[in-house]
Amino acid sequence: MTIAKGRALVTGGAGFIGSHLCDRLLADGYNVLCVDNYYSSTKDNIAHLLENPHFEVLRHDVTFPLYVEVDEIYHLACPASPIHYQRDPVQTTKTAVHGSINMLGLAKRTGAKILTTSTSEVYGDPQVHPQTEDYWGNVNPIGSRACYDEGKRAAETLFFDYHRQHNLKIKVVRLFNTYGPRMHPNDGRVVSNFVVSALTGKPITIYGEGQQTRSFCYVDDLIDGLIAMMNSGDEVTGPINLGNPGEFTIAELAAEVILQTGVDPGIEYLPLPQDDPTRRQPDITRAKQTLGWEPTIELKAGLAKTIEYFRGVLAR
Ligand code: UDP
Repeated sequence: MTIAKGRALVTGGAGFIGSHLCDRLLADGYNVLCVDNYYSSTKDNIAHLLENPHFEVLRHDVTFPLYVEVDEIYHLACPASPIHYQRDPVQTTKTAVHGSINMLGLAKRTGAKILTTSTSEVYGDPQVHPQTEDYWGNVNPIGSRACYDEGKRAAETLFFDYHRQHNLKIKVVRLFNTYGPRMHPNDGRVVSNFVVSALTGKPITIYGEGQQTRSFCYVDDLIDGLIAMMNSGDEVTGPINLGNPGEFTIAELAAEVILQTGVDPGIEYLPLPQDDPTRRQPDITRAKQTLGWEPTIELKAGLAKTIEYFRGVLAR
């Protein structure tokens, strides 16, 4: 019998990133408890794990308290794509805030280390480029992205106050655009939208003129970063940016998708959504120095794996 390394809770464990994290923790010898309410995730992402005796899944909404015994908490649960988090904005803020309070309460009672996935959205439409962790951001507090941006900012506040007030072992990372297999085909994200459009022969929808930039991190690199953060010393609280500094315009991404899929379905230009950040690129100096982490998978290579995944999904 293998001796487990410990009990890890992954909230949002059936999501795109959460399911990859469950895979990795199981491979590393953890007992994994996956908690999800399937609001923006799918059971398909974890179907391959259900027979694993070290894996357990619980349908639960983190806005309600959770009583379990664990050693480490990876708190990911929150809809993260604009179309998902804007569908029920009040619930998004509740998920970010009440969800964090509940998971921090759980960490306080059990003494577990707790890591949360915050977001580059805390920087809003940034006036500092690339974004360093000490930049306080430029967020519209009443716009359509605020439920997520301000919800996540409040969540960070809660993490640091629980740390200062109750000595909790906290880890806060800020994720920049992440992509890869198991992204939801309909979640409206730019990578999944462009790939699915090309593979189904529908025009690629560019919002605005496509000159806004994003920096895309392949999911395997991100998972390495999450694990490195959890395993860092207790003095490392973050916030730490996790992302790939390779910066591309949305038009460049469209061109790369057309090239790699071998399909040019044409481009449809649509209005830019409200408060859409014009530029985004992580400064990852802190992650490199503190965690010895940096991404290794370039957009071309990651996109090839993502296209292969979506070809499989669409063929089903
Ligand atoms: N975008 C686009 N076409 C799409 C989906 C998104 O041009 O079909 C743009 C969007 O306006 C934004 C960028 O791509 O500037 C990234 O959008 P996404 O929703 O993936 O993530 P965000 O970084 O905005 O949260």
